[in-house]
Amino acid sequence: MEIGQEVLLLLKEEITESEYNRYIKQLSYDSKKSTSDLAVFYAPNALVCNWIKSKYTQKIAHLFEVKNNSKVTVSISLKNQLDKRKIKKATEQKTGHSLLNPSHIFDNFMVGGSNQFAYAAVKSVSEKAGQLYNPLFIYGGVGLGKTHLMQAAGNVFQNQGKTVIYTTVEQFLNDFIRHVRNKTMERFQEKYRKCDVLLIDDIQFLSNKEGIQEEFFHTFEALKGAGKQIILTADKHPKKIGGLEKRLQSRFEHGLVADIQPPELETKIAIIENKCEINKVKLTKDIINYIATVIESNVREIEGILSKLHAYSQLMHVDIDLAFTKNVLKDQVQENRANLTMDIITNSVSKDLNIKPSEIRSKGRSKNLVYARRIAIYICRELTQSTMPQLAQYFGMKDHTAISHTLKKINELIVNDEDFKVKIDELTNKITSV
Ligand code: ADP
Ligand code: MG
Repeated sequence: MEIGQEVLLLLKEEITESEYNRYIKQLSYDSKKSTSDLAVFYAPNALVCNWIKSKYTQKIAHLFEVKNNSKVTVSISLKNQLDKRKIKKATEQKTGHSLLNPSHIFDNFMVGGSNQFAYAAVKSVSEKAGQLYNPLFIYGGVGLGKTHLMQAAGNVFQNQGKTVIYTTVEQFLNDFIRHVRNKTMERFQEKYRKCDVLLIDDIQFLSNKEGIQEEFFHTFEALKGAGKQIILTADKHPKKIGGLEKRLQSRFEHGLVADIQPPELETKIAIIENKCEINKVKLTKDIINYIATVIESNVREIEGILSKLHAYSQLMHVDIDLAFTKNVLKDQVQENRANLTMDIITNSVSKDLNIKPSEIRSKGRSKNLVYARRIAIYICRELTQSTMPQLAQYFGMKDHTAISHTLKKINELIVNDEDFKVKIDELTNKITSV
C-alpha cells in the first residue's frame, strides 16, 4: 500500500466514521507527484478541499512524520486543477484563445423571466449554426451568465465536431499583436476566418482600439459571408458602447440583440439549488431563500457563499441553520445594503402595493394600510441599521414598545401566513436588486 493511503487509514482511526466517510475518503494520493518531503493529495471539489486543508493538513503531516520519521509538506488541491491550469495556459499561448468550460452547459443554466429571452436565442442558435441570428449579441451586467450561455452553445457545437474559437477581446488582441510582430498575419487571418464558430466575450473592450477594430471587422465580414456563426457578449447594448466604429456597431445590431436582466427571486433560488446539488451541499428551503435575498444580482457570489458556509460550519462544528447563516453572512449583507434607507424601502413598498408613502407612515388603521406598514417596518428592520426608537418615529408610532409589539406580531404572521411571507421575500428581493 502507498504511504499516502496508509496515512489516511491511520487518520481514520482518530476521527469519527462520518467525518471520514464524508471527507477524508474522498481524498486521493498522488504518488507520482509526491516526493520524500512533499505529499500531494487531491480533493474532488472546492468545499471538501478547503475543509480538509483547514482542518487536517497538520494532522496528516504529523502522521507522515510518525510513519516516515521525516517532515513532509502536505499539499491538498482540487483534482486536475494544477494540470488543467497548465494545459489552459499552454493552449492559450499556442492558440491565443481559451478552452470552453465543460460545466457551462444548457442543463446547468437556470432559466427565469430575467434571462429566458437570451437563453431561447442562444439555444436556438445552437441548434442552427449560422442560419438564424448572425451575429447573436448578448448583453447584461456582471455575473448574470453571459459567458456561461455563450459557452453552452460552444459546447454543443464542439460536440458536433465543429471548430469553435472562444476568446476574450484581450486574448484576440494579444494574438493579433503577436502575429503582427512575427509577421505571420496570414496565419492569424486563416485561423480566425476558417473556424466554424467564433465566440468573443466582453466585446466592449474593443472600445477606442482602432487597429484591432479594423482587423476584427474583416474577420467578422469573412465569417458572416461564409455563413459561420458568431456570438458576442458585452456589458451593454451595442449602441451604448462608446468608441466603436459605426460600421461595427451596425453589424452588431444586425442579427439579434438579447439582454439578460438581474435574476428574480425564483431564478436565484433555482440557481442556488442547482449549485448546492453540484457541490453536494444540503441546505433547507429557509436558508436557500435567505441567501437568495442576500445576494443582489451577481450570481457569481453564490459559490463563494456556499463554500464560506460550509467551511464555517465545519470549523465550528455546527449544523448550518438559518441563524448561523445570517451570522456568517452578516458582513456581506451590511456591505451590500449600506445605502438602503427607510425612505427607499417605504417608497418601494408604496409603489408595489399602490399605497402612498405618507399613508404607510400615518396612523391609519385600514386593513391595507396596516398590511403595507407591517411589511415596510419589517423590511426596514432587516435591511437597515435603524433602531427601535428610530423606526417608531419614522412610522408615526408612540415609542419603541409599540414597534417591538408590531415586530412580534409580524414575526407571528411570517410563521403562520405563507402569502405574507412570500410578499416580504419578494419585496426584499426587489429592493436589494436595485
Ligand atoms: P457573466 O459572463 O455575465 O459575467 P458568468 O457567465 O461568468 O457571468 O456567470 C457567473 C457564474 O454564475 C458562473 O459560475 C455561472 O455558471 C453562474 N450563473 C449565472 N447565471 C446562471 C444561471 N441562470 N444558472 C446557473 N448558473 C448561472
Ligand atoms: Mg463573462
